[in-house]
Amino acid sequence: MDLAFSAEEEAFRREVRAWLDAHRVPEPPSGTDLDSHVRALREWQAALAGAKLVGVHWPEAYGGRGLTWIHNFIVQEELARAHAPEIINRIGVNLVGPTLQEHGTAAQQHRWLPGILPATELWCQLFSEPDAGSDLASLKTTARREGDTYVVNGQKVWSSYAQYARWGYLLARTDSDAPTHKGISALVIDMHAPGVEVRPLRQMTGEEEFNEVFLSDVVVEGASRLGAENDGWRIASTTLSHERGTSPRQLVVHAMLLDTLLDLARTTARDDPLIRQELARAYSDIQVFRLHNFRTLTDVLRDGQPGPQSSVVKLFWSEMSQRMHDLGVRLAGPAAYADPDTVGVEGLVRNMLYYRAATIFAGTSEVQRNVIGERSLGLPREPRPLS
Ligand SMILES: Cc1cc2nc3c(=O)[nH]c(=O)nc-3n(C[C@H](O)[C@H](O)[C@H](O)COP(=O)(O)OP(=O)(O)OC[C@H]3O[C@@H](n4cnc5c(N)ncnc54)[C@H](O)[C@@H]3O)c2cc1C
Repeated sequence: MDLAFSAEEEAFRREVRAWLDAHRVPEPPSGTDLDSHVRALREWQAALAGAKLVGVHWPEAYGGRGLTWIHNFIVQEELARAHAPEIINRIGVNLVGPTLQEHGTAAQQHRWLPGILPATELWCQLFSEPDAGSDLASLKTTARREGDTYVVNGQKVWSSYAQYARWGYLLARTDSDAPTHKGISALVIDMHAPGVEVRPLRQMTGEEEFNEVFLSDVVVEGASRLGAENDGWRIASTTLSHERGTSPRQLVVHAMLLDTLLDLARTTARDDPLIRQELARAYSDIQVFRLHNFRTLTDVLRDGQPGPQSSVVKLFWSEMSQRMHDLGVRLAGPAAYADPDTVGVEGLVRNMLYYRAATIFAGTSEVQRNVIGERSLGLPREPRPLS
């Protein structure tokens, strides 16, 4: 196996790095002023897209460069290295874009793809409901056929950035009599349509990144359905495999976090054998995580989309992340809470709180273990409830 990047890919990396060196990256979120942060992030994504540095593996017709997943991997690594924040329209770029390219009609692609890379139109993902998270197929939101339209009623929750979204990628039940997986359709809804109400929820970081979304008699054009009626589960499966995908960003972010942890251990003189073991584990984890990423990248290059291997990547980084952030806060001690600047770890506490969510979003750790057991290792399926 050759783990080196080619000369052409390294030249591309230099181009990306030079661009990032010449442009000021936005500051991380400070306080709870999400509106101005989102505004800055939209401008940043527009600038990146102007330099064709978002979705470089997308077709040129939709703002990409028609390059490979490896090039996309390199861009993610370089953005993280430059301390650039995650792009604001990541649901559009990482989830909706690939799904539209695989399942959308030409008219749907023409309508929605161009607004995604420059973040002129933000997207949210309306999958989870109060009683349907891990067991997504049990979702209750309905879309009732009325002539050429659907009338949607129900409630979604944990919908990230829904308060800023122009479009929502919705899963709704179109056949209540069919077995759960077979009665679902995928619809694109206009977040400005009458009957859509978005209520932000506050996370323990103090930010209001996700929301409840109430849908009351929302009218959706039939032409906004992705794929066939009742075939939404298949469409969503494409989306979910991309949601786990590779995580070059997390690789770089945590490699940099390890440097912070080592500095902290030195400055706080915590030459404790147990701390040394935890640091050694963090170092080893990052090496293992790098290899998992490369394995998933190989799958994507071969099959065009990430397979069940992507669950290993998601499971691994999310749990590694929590261990590393917990260690950082322990090393920094009470000063991390009192005055983060005194120990040079600004954001450590905020990130420790934020990354608690990492083992929940995009599928919990238990769900990833089920996927790995059933789809990668070929173990028997978990028993389904009898009802
Ligand atoms: C920060 C954040 C952002 C999010 N953004 C979005 C978004 O934009 N759009 C969206 O649709 N959703 C979003 N989500 C929701 C996320 O997908 C769900 O939280 C997740 O799927 C888990 O569902 P749940 O919260 O209902 O927990 P549940 O499914 O109720 O799980 C509760 C517990 O039971 C365990 N469990 C459940 N089923 C099994 C099983 N079969 N085997 C073993 N254990 C099991 C789980 O692992 C968990 O520990 C977001 C979540 C977070 C935290």
